[in-house]
Amino acid sequence: MRNWEIKSRNRFCSSCDGAFEIEQLFHTVLDFTGEEPVRKDYCVRCWKEKDPETGKAGDGRAYWQGRFKRLAAAVEKEAIKKDVIERLLDRYIRSGEEAHINLCYILALLEERKKVLIPRDTMLDKEGRTIIVYEHSATGDTYLICDPHLSLVQVEAVQEQVKELIDREKEGAEEVDGEEGEIEEETAAG
Ligand SMILES: [Zn+2]
Repeated sequence: MRNWEIKSRNRFCSSCDGAFEIEQLFHTVLDFTGEEPVRKDYCVRCWKEKDPETGKAGDGRAYWQGRFKRLAAAVEKEAIKKDVIERLLDRYIRSGEEAHINLCYILALLEERKKVLIPRDTMLDKEGRTIIVYEHSATGDTYLICDPHLSLVQVEAVQEQVKELIDREKEGAEEVDGEEGEIEEETAAG
């Protein structure tokens, strides 16, 4: 298994194929026991019919409930402007390098603070590593982030790296970016 995967939310129940409606409650199970993580979303009725054991979170499996939100035509999804941190996260999330695992952990924490990523569950993968399951608040995509259990000193060092990356990314965006969207600046407010 790779370190991280991103699985989009299903638009249909994995059991009865019924389309989810806006604001409908659904149950999600993320199964890590195979080669690749498998995400399944169930409507409430199908969930009740299932063996309750299958719903339990535990080793190799994450579980949460969500409400289906408006959105998600491919075009709309494209239109949601990614912030700098998201772009960096996308860049490093598939890397297995230790330095990048550390980076992604801190980037995800920043996004959690901004409420862009919502922590859904924590679990152990096959190798016994702690995986934090995040869901993107706008797109419903799932981010699986390895918790590298950094020491305080390590956290500070990685935070420093992340800051530099963000600054560099913003500078690059200013130079290259000809499009109309402006770069988010926290200092902009008066
Ligand atoms: Zn169903």
